[in-house]
Amino acid sequence: MQRASRLAPLLLPEPRDNVKQSDKIFVAGHRGLVGSALVRRLLALGFDNLVLRTRDELDLEDIASVRAFFEAERPNHVFLAAARVGGIFANNTYPADFIHDNLLVQISVIEAARATNVDKMLFLGSSCIYPKFSEQPIREEALLTGELEPTNEAYAVAKIAGIIMCRSYNRQHGTRFMSVMPTNLYGEGDNFERTGSHVLPALMRRFHDAKLAGDREVVVWGTGTPRREFLHVDDMADASIHLMRVWAEPSPDGSIVGGPNAINEIVNVGYGDDIPIGELAKMVKETVGYQGTLAFDTTKPDGTPRKLLDSTRLHSTGWSPKVSLREGLARTYAWFLENHDEARLG
Ligand code: GDP
Repeated sequence: MQRASRLAPLLLPEPRDNVKQSDKIFVAGHRGLVGSALVRRLLALGFDNLVLRTRDELDLEDIASVRAFFEAERPNHVFLAAARVGGIFANNTYPADFIHDNLLVQISVIEAARATNVDKMLFLGSSCIYPKFSEQPIREEALLTGELEPTNEAYAVAKIAGIIMCRSYNRQHGTRFMSVMPTNLYGEGDNFERTGSHVLPALMRRFHDAKLAGDREVVVWGTGTPRREFLHVDDMADASIHLMRVWAEPSPDGSIVGGPNAINEIVNVGYGDDIPIGELAKMVKETVGYQGTLAFDTTKPDGTPRKLLDSTRLHSTGWSPKVSLREGLARTYAWFLENHDEARLG
């Protein structure tokens, strides 16, 4: 006798029209790296009925304000790209802020979206939700199969809670809330702070400053051996919009991508290739045109040894990345030079 799946859906969503250009779309976190790229891409594709709120206009951690906002605006679709994010140092130093702020934003937005019948929502997770020693490349099925990387455990647990919330809402309420797991993202609009940022913008800034100061040596944290996968944020935005459009819609052969089937509620978004941090440092150095040498500070943590996503599920929907790392680095540095004053440079 066949056993029913433990994760069998309780409710099936009704088939509805796909995302239309006239639909009202709320991009939560539109000033962040991903949110701003989403807005650029949505507008370029003709989706111009966007609802945007700055942090001053709407506090996404405030459950009542968020509910009132959804009731007033009634968006058709939501990209939940608002989050407290940061690199290995920030995550390791402020774990309480990372778990607290992210949980509150997720609870407010996910529940308000359900209560106001949002049609589709795409929740942005992170590749750090996967166990530290996941088999590489990491498949979506690796979720909750092992221990997390301690330096970003608090952030990862908040994001995992978001994924399980989306899954639970889909099962119990028949909503269409999907979670995407981006690999390490970078690009125009990134955070170039000295300590709180991720490795790629941090190194770009450090090489740039060293070039101007004429320093002989630039320090790279850790051993340089951990491997990371980098995806340009414009590719991330494009993949997210693509997934929202195809997800839970029947494809020409009648199959459904996503839907209330637990496994397809998570989709990895990666570039498909990774490099050691030492290699990345050399590429950033070349992009910036810095002539000095590299030194590795092994007193700084390496974090997880490797983080390469298996993006087969995404690629099977007909999407692939367009921006190579070399091109993306050049674009990011050009942006940094142009926007020096506005770039987040703490
Ligand atoms: P992670 O992918 O969550 O570990 O986040 P990061 O982007 O902060 O770090 C990736 C890897 O780059 C880790 O092994 C860091 O130790 C290494 N790394 C090297 N130099 C830097 C730096 O200047 N800033 C950051 N954030 N990481 C660095």
